[in-house]
Amino acid sequence: MNLDTRTAVAWITRAADDVRADEARLTSLDAAVGDGDHGANMTRGLAAATASFAEKPPATPGAVLVAAGRSLVAKTGGASGPLYGTGLRKAGKALGEAEQAEPAAVAEALQAMLDGIRELGEAAEGDKTMIDALAPAVAAFRDAVDDGADLGAAARAAADAAEEGLAATVPLQARKGRASYLGARSVGHEDPGAASTTLVLRALAEVTTE
Ligand code: ADP
Ligand code: MG
Ligand code: MG
Repeated sequence: MNLDTRTAVAWITRAADDVRADEARLTSLDAAVGDGDHGANMTRGLAAATASFAEKPPATPGAVLVAAGRSLVAKTGGASGPLYGTGLRKAGKALGEAEQAEPAAVAEALQAMLDGIRELGEAAEGDKTMIDALAPAVAAFRDAVDDGADLGAAARAAADAAEEGLAATVPLQARKGRASYLGARSVGHEDPGAASTTLVLRALAEVTTE
């Protein structure tokens, strides 16, 4: 299958549902290394994104991601809003005006999301941020597509890689964001943004596999 408008809306809607269902877990991760608002921030931003689809139905998958990105920038407090928002807007722009995106185009869009978040946040892999989940996920997605995987299989590979990247954040010391203020005390916990990134990518796998 390709990523069409309906599937893109389903992705962001599923991500909103899954993040809301896991809001308490994201909050407690952020309470350990930050200020305990990541669950609420992401729930609010993604709810605004789904509300925007109802208000003004986007015509293309690219428009879905641009609209979601704008909502996240506008409605999500904290560092994560501008980062996810910019990333989603860049992903949407990479898809252009096409009515459907083939898996290879989705790989490019995910790469644009990663590049946008890196450019804005200036975090590298190993800094204990969402990049530690997103970077291996984007690479796994692209590798799967290069091997001929369909959209659902590529998204599953990405979500699995994100999950491994999330687990690998536990022993790391944060070098970016609020968690970096804790110094060595940030060691021993999952990064909240890497956890939400894993949920967002799992949501893509869910809606492209059903
Ligand atoms: P805040 O820290 O402002 O309260 P959130 O709690 O919503 O914002 O988001 C925290 C998450 O944002 C972190 O767990 C981390 O994954 C991510 N993050 C913070 N700073 C950066 C950065 N410079 N680059 C990439 N991700 C970052
Ligand atoms: Mg926070
Ligand atoms: Mg905050």
